[in-house]
Amino acid sequence: MKSLYSELEKDVRYREGLNACINCGICTSVCPAAEVSDYDPRMVVDTVQQKNESLLLELLKSDTIWRCGECLSCKTRCPRGNVPCYIIQSLRSLSIETGLFAESAEGRKQLVVKRTVGDHILKYGYCVYIDEVRNEWYPEQGPVWEWLRENRENTLSRFGTSYRQTKAGTLRNTAKESLEDLRKIFDETGGTARFNKIEEFSAKKAAESGKEFTGERDEYFNMLNNGEEQEK
Ligand code: SF4
Ligand code: SF4
Repeated sequence: MKSLYSELEKDVRYREGLNACINCGICTSVCPAAEVSDYDPRMVVDTVQQKNESLLLELLKSDTIWRCGECLSCKTRCPRGNVPCYIIQSLRSLSIETGLFAESAEGRKQLVVKRTVGDHILKYGYCVYIDEVRNEWYPEQGPVWEWLRENRENTLSRFGTSYRQTKAGTLRNTAKESLEDLRKIFDETGGTARFNKIEEFSAKKAAESGKEFTGERDEYFNMLNNGEEQEK
């Protein structure tokens, strides 16, 4: 197996994000994710700069790297010019490439992000699309949303949108050529390969946990999406 560090160092975000950390904790003090959870960017930066394979392995398997909101507040404040956010981005990429994301509860949710936001971009050209925001899947949307969705053709037309139309305006259909361009961009930039990795390693995890995995809104997906997962 290749050294995790040698793989991490190939990522330009890692190289740009890490100079030398003096453990001052300023990044943590300005970090909104640290405000609401036990997440600590100072700890992440200090861990990676130790260049300890075992510690890095544990980090890649942990919930920690999925808590950052990528707001980049840390970039503006670090006295050593480190960017904890870039380091986190490189760690997330490596976690997916190695399949280690499937070892943490937060990491496993990458499948939900891929099958909703990711797949919707490729299918509709929108990361969130009204047809897919069904109350059976998102009950927190409530009854007003349910009514709006059921009556969307009429209501959105009265709002002056271009829903399901090809003319200019909000919610218009994305042109077929544009969707094909999007697909090519994902293919060329590694997005498609990344999505495939998420599916591949999630399938293995689903098999381990005895959950149905069909590639759609299957039992494994629903368990993650509904927050029903029990840590074993
Ligand atoms: S980018 Fe991430 S680590 Fe940096 S301040 Fe925002 S949430 Fe915290
Ligand atoms: S602000 Fe910079 S130097 Fe200080 S703990 Fe965070 S990464 Fe390290």
